[in-house]
Amino acid sequence: MLIEDIKVSYREIPLHTPFKTALRTATEIESITVTIHLANGVIGKGEAAPTWVITGDSAQSIQAALEGPIKTALFHQDIRHFQTLLTAIQNSCVGNTSAKAAADMALYDAYSKWLAIPLYQLLGDHQPIYTSMTVGVDDPAKMADDAKKWVEAGYSRLKIKVGAKPELDITRITAIREAIPADVLLRLDANQGWQPKQAVQLIQKMEKIGAGIEFIEQPVKAKDLDGLKFVTDHVQTPIMADESVFSPQDAFTIVSGHYADLLNIKLMKCGGIQNALSIANLAMVHRMPCMIGSMMESSFSVGAAAHFASAHPNVIYYDLDAPLWLIEEAEVIDYQGEKLYLSSSAGIGAVNESEK
Ligand SMILES: [Mg+2]
Repeated sequence: MLIEDIKVSYREIPLHTPFKTALRTATEIESITVTIHLANGVIGKGEAAPTWVITGDSAQSIQAALEGPIKTALFHQDIRHFQTLLTAIQNSCVGNTSAKAAADMALYDAYSKWLAIPLYQLLGDHQPIYTSMTVGVDDPAKMADDAKKWVEAGYSRLKIKVGAKPELDITRITAIREAIPADVLLRLDANQGWQPKQAVQLIQKMEKIGAGIEFIEQPVKAKDLDGLKFVTDHVQTPIMADESVFSPQDAFTIVSGHYADLLNIKLMKCGGIQNALSIANLAMVHRMPCMIGSMMESSFSVGAAAHFASAHPNVIYYDLDAPLWLIEEAEVIDYQGEKLYLSSSAGIGAVNESEK
C-alpha cells in the first residue's frame, strides 16, 4: 500500500489564558499538520508545535524538515514496511525532533487506520488515564487562587510551575498548600530555574514542612547532569528529568547513571512514538517509571501521546492538560474533568473532512 502524497499545513491556535513557566509565557501556539495519503484513500495525520526555548524547533524548521528530507524518506514507500519507515524518519536528518514526531504519529495513524484498529490497540493496551492540571508561575496569592479553582473543578493532582524568582518558591508552595485539601498531590516543575545547591535547600525545606510533593521536574539546567544527580542524591523527594532527556540515548545515560528517579517523555522531544517506546522500555528494565507530558500542543498530538501512555505499563504519570488551555475544542480526546477518554475509531481519531 503506497504512500501517494504527503501534505504540510500551518495554523495558529490562541490560548484562552497565558501559560507561564520559568522559561516562557505563551499566549498562542503554532501548529504544523502533516498528512500521509495512502493509495487506498486512508489518511494518517500528525501535528507538531514549535518550542524555541526547549527543542529549538521553529514553525519554519518543522515545515522545512517535513517537506524536505522526511517527505523524501516516505514518498512512494509501502506502509507495510512500517518499522523501516519509522526508522527512515529518524535517520532522514539530524535534530528536528518535533518534525519527526509529527511524521512518526502520522505514520502510526495511517498504519492503525489501514489495520482498522485504534492506535492504543496497535500499541497493545488501553488503561484508563487522567491528567494533572498546571498552575502557572506567578505571585503566591494568584497561584493559591488558581490551585483552589482547579481543585474545586475536580483535579486531584496539580502541577505547580516554580523556578522563576526562586526566592518566592517556598511562599508559593505554602500559600497553595493552605488553599487546598491535604490529599491533593502537588508535582513541582522548576523548568531548570534552580541552581543545584539552591534546589537541595528548597526541596529539603519543603520536605521539612510536609508540603506533600509527589515529585519535582527538572530542578536544574538541562545539560547539567552532574547538578541533576547532586539534587537526586541529596533529597528524599523523587526527581524527574524533563529537558535533560530528549532521545533514547539521553534516557540511557540518565537511567544507567541514576541521574534522576523518573523520566518525562514528550513526543516533541524524542521524535515520536517509536522513540517514546524505546525510552519507556529502557526505563522499565531499570524499574524507573515514566510520565507522559507534552508541550503546549494541539489536542491531536496530545491524543497520540495519550494513546501511547494508555498502552504502556511503564508510563504511570500523565500530564496532558495542554489542549485545555486552547480556545479550540479538543479534537480526539474527550476530557471529563481530569479523566481522558480516547476515540475507539481507527487510528488516533477521526480526520476532518476539510483535511482530506
Ligand atoms: Mg517539565
